[in-house]
Amino acid sequence: VAPATVEEATAILAAREGAHVIAGGTDLVVRMRQGLVQPSVLVDVERIPSLRRIARRDRLLRIGATVTISTLVAAAEVAAVAPALVEAGGQMGAGQLRHLATLGGNLASAVPSADLAPPLLVMDATVRIAGPDQSRILPLEAFFVAPHRSALRPDEVLTAVEIPVAGGAEGCGAAFLKFGKRRAQVLAVVNAAAWVRVRGDVIEEARVALGAVAPTPMRARGAEALLRGQRPAPEVLAEAADAAAAETRPITDMRASAAFRRELSRVLVRRVLARAAQRAGGGRDPVCMT
Ligand SMILES: Cc1cc2nc3c(=O)[nH]c(=O)nc-3n(C[C@H](O)[C@H](O)[C@H](O)COP(=O)(O)OP(=O)(O)OC[C@H]3O[C@@H](n4cnc5c(N)ncnc54)[C@H](O)[C@@H]3O)c2cc1C
Repeated sequence: VAPATVEEATAILAAREGAHVIAGGTDLVVRMRQGLVQPSVLVDVERIPSLRRIARRDRLLRIGATVTISTLVAAAEVAAVAPALVEAGGQMGAGQLRHLATLGGNLASAVPSADLAPPLLVMDATVRIAGPDQSRILPLEAFFVAPHRSALRPDEVLTAVEIPVAGGAEGCGAAFLKFGKRRAQVLAVVNAAAWVRVRGDVIEEARVALGAVAPTPMRARGAEALLRGQRPAPEVLAEAADAAAAETRPITDMRASAAFRRELSRVLVRRVLARAAQRAGGGRDPVCMT
């Protein structure tokens, strides 16, 4: 079924047991073919106009859940506020996939390697969720519960992602890096994002997030605490990277061993922090998140 409104979609989800939301289908259809999910009915949310919008209002950038990755990476409003998100989207799959896959689907699939999660986590993003009786807003960090499990209830729809913005402030930089076995059509072995605010020669605030190294995409808060009040010098970034790697809880699977993932976390965090700090200093990324 293809409802025209969020209210209609949540009413169907509440009324039909086993009903499942579908957006681009690039994750769900694969899992259906593997017999891992067997929906009784698919509720296609892609024809709901309100879920396709990108809007900037004062201190908030709101991106609708069914905005496709192609639209996301081409949107000037997103590039102005969240360049690391654009970097992540540009490295997802390949062109064909990016035309179908959506922001909401990437997050709601709740896979530990979801590429859009780390850049959104370092921007302190929140998610808007609609149910048949009420709506709620959650920090993105609380949205990820376990591999393939988000905080969404069966009758709820993820409607948008919101990124806080404090326009005009200078000295902020963000970056995203991904390591995969190929350059395209590949899930991350490890991905990482960083956001820093530098004033003078000192890191006032830093946020670091990693994917594919824990049951859910994660913030590395120990590393963040180490960076606060320090100069963005190579040895400081290296120490923070060691701390971030120590915070990971990777597994061994067909893509990599746990030990390789931990080592890669160290390397990627060091590099992504250096890139974010350089951008903060170079004024390439002038919009600060609150
Ligand atoms: C070849 C290939 C390459 C890929 N490469 C990458 C990659 O590089 N990086 C990466 O991160 N992922 C990758 N993926 C995984 C997938 O394409 C992405 O996660 C994509 O963003 C999923 O979005 P979708 O709209 O297709 O989701 P769907 O498949 O439609 O849905 C995924 C899950 O989210 C739920 N859902 C979707 N939208 C909503 C909503 N609005 N509200 C509530 N629930 C919702 C669905 O019920 C389902 O459980 C790849 C997949 C393939 C097949």
